[in-house]
Amino acid sequence: MPSNETRETTAFRAGLDVVRAVEPRIAAAIEQELVDQRGSLKLIASENYASPAVLLAMGNWLTDKYAEGTIGHRFYAGCANVDTVEAVAAEHARELFGADHAYVQPHSGIDANLVAFWAVLAQRVESPALTNAGARQVNELSDEDWARLRRELGDQRLLGMSLDAGGHLTHGFRPNISGKMFDQRSYGTHPDTGLLDYDQVRAAAREFRPLILLAGYSAYPRLVNFAIMREIADEVGATLMVDMAHFAGLVAGKVLTGDFDPVPHAQIVTTTTHKSLRGPRGGMVLSSAELTEQVNRGCPMVLGGPLGHIMAAKAVALAEARQPGFASYARQIVDNARALADGLRRRGATVVTGGTDNHIVLLDVHGYGLTGRQAESALLDAGIVTNRNAIPRDPNGAWYTSGIRLGTPALTTRGLDTGELDEVAQLIVTVLEATISASGSKVRYTLDKRVTDEVSERAADLMAKHPLYPQIDLG
Ligand SMILES: *Cc1c(COP(=O)(O)O)cnc(C)c1O
Repeated sequence: MPSNETRETTAFRAGLDVVRAVEPRIAAAIEQELVDQRGSLKLIASENYASPAVLLAMGNWLTDKYAEGTIGHRFYAGCANVDTVEAVAAEHARELFGADHAYVQPHSGIDANLVAFWAVLAQRVESPALTNAGARQVNELSDEDWARLRRELGDQRLLGMSLDAGGHLTHGFRPNISGKMFDQRSYGTHPDTGLLDYDQVRAAAREFRPLILLAGYSAYPRLVNFAIMREIADEVGATLMVDMAHFAGLVAGKVLTGDFDPVPHAQIVTTTTHKSLRGPRGGMVLSSAELTEQVNRGCPMVLGGPLGHIMAAKAVALAEARQPGFASYARQIVDNARALADGLRRRGATVVTGGTDNHIVLLDVHGYGLTGRQAESALLDAGIVTNRNAIPRDPNGAWYTSGIRLGTPALTTRGLDTGELDEVAQLIVTVLEATISASGSKVRYTLDKRVTDEVSERAADLMAKHPLYPQIDLG
């Protein structure tokens, strides 16, 4: 090992050599992914770059262990180390977010939401099927209980944010099991301001009387007042659930506090760990003390055996998020998003709601005569990675869309500052102004190669100033 080689370089090189000896195509794909990530300006709002410590905590023999159950109460022998890992991760999560209880087993955000739905059902539903099983242990139901429960579940109601206002598929929409489990209704944003309309939420809640009032979003660029949402939930006897999958990093970094921090207001909070929180791909549930028992039944109710290696990486990421540097990171994410939104607006672009208070900027590309689909492809041609997204009352529907969703967590991890996000705004506008829709098409377009070349070059200059994973040199 050359004396100036970093520990990270040594670790990843050696690891890849071991993989290469078994299946070279996989080692090559892993290496290529680093090259691709380094070479693209990533504005996907749900993505980030996990630290080398988080990455390394995932690749080990904790994956070999079955540990169904909860800390100190497993269905398998020999779980002492998984117990340690899960307990440390849960402790960091409780301390970081100020939650009574943290359950770090969910394998993804969708799984965290399923755990939360069943926890609330088990706690709240006065079901003969559930009570028959004694102590409402959902995992002890007979087939007959299940048949009854299925009939009764059809009456349970969920009120969540509509998809085109920025809600998520798991908030009661058709393609997801949540839309089949629950009778669902949505609230949206105000047609004039584009802001979440609390009067509309209150009116819908009074009329619909949901079991669960669900707040949280994937594509809403503003704050949500969770104190008001709790007041509405209490008024109609609903449980307030918040899905902070997108903005958990801003809660962890104390950018979202008081009425805008969901944890003190909601009975149950779910999240992913890989978006703004910058951990491994995974999920997590935080809850008030009263829901502890129900939440802990996530496995085996809807989850398989916990992923010990991923919980280890969650513990590392949560420990990182408790360091003071993470608060500066979170503030910079929002400053950068504001700089991006301002830069776009100043150059004539239409930004939904006129700006942002979080990490998301939603760009309405209708004014360029483009669909979201065309804008997404044209930007990608120039090395700028975004995703198309419906805007409120989108005339082009959820597939072609009229919007582009942008987010700053990844570029902020890379180290870009507000001045550089303004430059990114310039690059985006340059591409969109030069893109011409093929007549009558929602997909095809023309874009002068000189424009893509020039923008790619300027994007490459920005990235060269902020190398990704500077500690890792695979040579
Ligand atoms: C991303 C996201 C999820 C799903 O997370 P996965 O890990 O992809 O399952 C759930 N809810 C919201 C609000 C999200 O943004």
